[in-house]
Amino acid sequence: MKKQKSLDRRDFIKVSTLGVAGVGAILSGKPLYAEQGSETEYPKIKEYRTLGRTGFKTSDIGIGTSRVYPIPVMNAVLDAGVNYIDSAEGYGRGSAEKNIAEAIKGRDRKSLFITTKIRMRGVNSKEQVIEKVQKCLQRLQADYIDCLMVQGPPTVEALKDENFHQGMSQLKKDGKVRFVGVANHGSRFQNQGETMEKVLLAAVEDGRYDVLLLVYNFIQKEAGEKILEAAAKKNIATTIMKSDPLGRYFEMKARIEQMKEKGETVDERTQRYMSRMVETAKKAESFLQKNNLKDPREIKTAALKFVLNNPKVNTLNLAFNNFDDISNLLKLSGSGLKQSDKTMLAAFEQECSSLYCRHACGICESSCPHDVPVNTIMRYNHYFEAHGSEKFAMEKYSKLAAHNADYCRNCGGWCEQSCPYGVPIQGLLNLAHAQLTL
Ligand code: SF4
Ligand code: SF4
Repeated sequence: MKKQKSLDRRDFIKVSTLGVAGVGAILSGKPLYAEQGSETEYPKIKEYRTLGRTGFKTSDIGIGTSRVYPIPVMNAVLDAGVNYIDSAEGYGRGSAEKNIAEAIKGRDRKSLFITTKIRMRGVNSKEQVIEKVQKCLQRLQADYIDCLMVQGPPTVEALKDENFHQGMSQLKKDGKVRFVGVANHGSRFQNQGETMEKVLLAAVEDGRYDVLLLVYNFIQKEAGEKILEAAAKKNIATTIMKSDPLGRYFEMKARIEQMKEKGETVDERTQRYMSRMVETAKKAESFLQKNNLKDPREIKTAALKFVLNNPKVNTLNLAFNNFDDISNLLKLSGSGLKQSDKTMLAAFEQECSSLYCRHACGICESSCPHDVPVNTIMRYNHYFEAHGSEKFAMEKYSKLAAHNADYCRNCGGWCEQSCPYGVPIQGLLNLAHAQLTL
């Protein structure tokens, strides 16, 4: 909890930016968020787990900061007992790290575990690695980073980058970095076969990585479970992203309705792939009705419980965009997975898993005659839809170093035919293109 009893120098600085209401908050000892926008009592973290060989007792739910959240929301999340914060140099072009600096001011630094990440593309020396990390430290206004991850190494070979490891050794010696980690959500188009499973299992074997960040959810579980198993044997910490594989259907449905409303005309080919997609979407609709689910969040809740229910998962990173997210997500801490949840997820997987273009997949990409990076585009679309990072996603898409999904409009849909999961991907790519180039 934030120390709020006395007015120290840091509090004074904060007071001067908060104004009279802020002075009242600190002097009254009330949680800061209460004065900044919400009087609600939020659920508290109920379970702490050991973060592998780091030994840190982490909250089972962490905060993933791929977008910049309002400070009062960050404060409420931290006050509720969340003590794991995941960030990256590139999130919000560094503004996510600056935001964390603001949110943790006045808190006991040792009670928090802060992870950030750097990319190694274009980095050719140990000195450049150190320089990048120093910039992270400046933005975080921190003396040290608990875990520094290499973000998305594209191959097993990239895990062994000596510039990175020499930089880490130096930073550890200087007390600037405590642990080293790796985040991976699968092969990029250019590196077919270098799957998340292959890269992260190699990271476990490498021995120099203390913390992993991986994709794991109830539909895409096989690779994740292998990695979790291997990591547990070596006491390597595991943190999870992309735990909710459901959002896309509902976004897709909204987009189709929007198109209908606007009276957008679609040519015959487009109509064909749209109708394939609508057929798939209808399955999910009937699933909701059959299971008497009024709100899609009921499945999302079970999906997140599925991840938390795995004891080999140390912490699950979630996005907290607003106060509602805090109420809805933090109540899942320490919750078990009921038999009814398991039944619902199994039925959803059976009937509707074709709605989900798997993260960290890319199996279909080699069948595209135009070299369109299907999985990367769908990931950018995920940033747009599930994280609410519209600008970030559109910018990434505009800078795609390959052909974009404009090629998908007038194509035979070869990728769709080679998808082993039956995902109506041509329609999804077309929707993603429209969304990311609005
Ligand atoms: S469409 Fe299918 S094969 Fe292609 S990336 Fe998505 S899940 Fe994998
Ligand atoms: S729809 Fe055609 S152009 Fe688009 S990714 Fe699939 S095969 Fe490639």
